[in-house]
Amino acid sequence: MSTNTIASVRGPLDLANVGATLIHEHIFGLSPEIHWNWPDLPEKWDLERRALEAAERLNEIKRLGIDTIVDLTVIGLGRCIPAIERVAAHTDINIVVSTGIYTYDRLPPYFGNKGPGSIFGGPDRMVEFFVRDITEGIGETGVRAGMLKCAVDAAGITTDIDRLLTAVSETQHRTGVPITVHTDSEAKSGTEAWRALSRLGVAPDRVVIGHAGDSTDLDYLSRLADRGLWLGMDRFGIETTSFEDRVATVAALCRRGYTERMVLSHDAYSFNDRVDPVVVSKAHPNYHYAHISRDVLPELRRRGVSGSEIATMMVENPRRILEVQ
Ligand SMILES: [Zn+2]
Repeated sequence: MSTNTIASVRGPLDLANVGATLIHEHIFGLSPEIHWNWPDLPEKWDLERRALEAAERLNEIKRLGIDTIVDLTVIGLGRCIPAIERVAAHTDINIVVSTGIYTYDRLPPYFGNKGPGSIFGGPDRMVEFFVRDITEGIGETGVRAGMLKCAVDAAGITTDIDRLLTAVSETQHRTGVPITVHTDSEAKSGTEAWRALSRLGVAPDRVVIGHAGDSTDLDYLSRLADRGLWLGMDRFGIETTSFEDRVATVAALCRRGYTERMVLSHDAYSFNDRVDPVVVSKAHPNYHYAHISRDVLPELRRRGVSGSEIATMMVENPRRILEVQ
């Protein structure tokens, strides 16, 4: 079963209005415990100022033709929905938020110390929380999540990651929203992530293999796409894989017939207290929301990727992913 609307910060969003979408971005990356204890740090958190700054950046990409962004900031990355609501008040772009946990190996102790097999036992509340975020709303905001997020990094499926994938899969079955799984392309952990999710009964078209685009291994990527998974070509601007390699990989996969399996994004933040902004802007000068619109799409066109193929990756594929099924 599917519906015609998805959840967004401003309320139900008609699928027809999702439009050109950046499917893996962040607005704020925050470390609340640090802010509580060292509030005088230079990266001082000033909500209204940061909300206006984020809205300005989002308004810029709206002018460049982007209609929707998916903010994949979940527990572990400092999700703060009241702050996102302040951003949404100053921009017309659609913002879809998400739920889940970002960790590479161990669950945060709040979850890890409870539940079956843990030292203190008791009920495991992950599914309860994730389902509530999707069906009722997050905290007291009433803003519902439209995507699930988890990670399988180089450490693979540890005991805690197995618990997380089980909870995310259970939530996916109950709610129908899609999953983005962060993966490590060097370790090719997308393969392992999919093996686990498929064992848990998740359909491949409900899964985006996040950071697949860090890889230039066309065979690895083709094998994932052949299974019906979505490839997240979603770190444009992060120079650990060069612009040339990222663009060439997308163009090559288009030629191989995988246009209908790719989505493009940056994994960028407007404000992220976990990185040094000066260092980042020097080492990764194109790591921002506008890079795809300004640089990547024109370069793909120059390399023979057609306008309709670009529309497939920017509009149709995100819509098919976000549609609740
Ligand atoms: Zn991310």
